[in-house]
Amino acid sequence: MTQLSPQIDRAPGAHVPVACWSCQKAAEGLFCGACGVVQPPGSADHFARLGLARGFGVETAELDRRYFALQRQLHPDRIVKKTPRERAVSQSQAASLNDAYETLRDPLSRAVYLLRLQGIELEPASGQTISDPALLMEAMEMREALAEAADDQAVQAVAAQVEADRKKGFELLAKAFGASDTARARTQTLRLKYLTKLAEDIRGRRAAMRAAS
Ligand SMILES: [Zn+2]
Repeated sequence: MTQLSPQIDRAPGAHVPVACWSCQKAAEGLFCGACGVVQPPGSADHFARLGLARGFGVETAELDRRYFALQRQLHPDRIVKKTPRERAVSQSQAASLNDAYETLRDPLSRAVYLLRLQGIELEPASGQTISDPALLMEAMEMREALAEAADDQAVQAVAAQVEADRKKGFELLAKAFGASDTARARTQTLRLKYLTKLAEDIRGRRAAMRAAS
């Protein structure tokens, strides 16, 4: 058994105390503990900003609860009588919280972000090309099935298959992150990006078919 460290290690990217811009005392989090003035967003990662452990398994209800509790503290009504600088700092805090919330709420963007925190960028500079041979084959088969689907019922069948593949894909992704298997997480995230785009295309195509009939 590995001996657990008696000290609580600060998570990487967590809020680190910095000098309050107003009173110069050490401050961390949204407000200075000494003078109560709102603090700038700083360099905390999205998970730390919302007080969540870094990982793929985020409970949506918990994420919502933390986000809305923090946003309430920054409500414009609370800072309307403050100085222009405090209002500006509060707005940048609110923007950072929105960014964190939107990134973490969607499982796919959460996965992309988690990989980025580990130094893995998914988007090649050149664009949307698929380089993984297995994924390329799967993508071609899906596109072929969609091209051959003559009526709405057939398109719906392809859509159902894509949804089933996405659901399974997210389960595999959670397993990969749980096992710290970054290579597998990367492959599965790329696959899910493709499947999600395909599902959007199918929705668009069905809407166009309905409009035309
Ligand atoms: Zn202060």
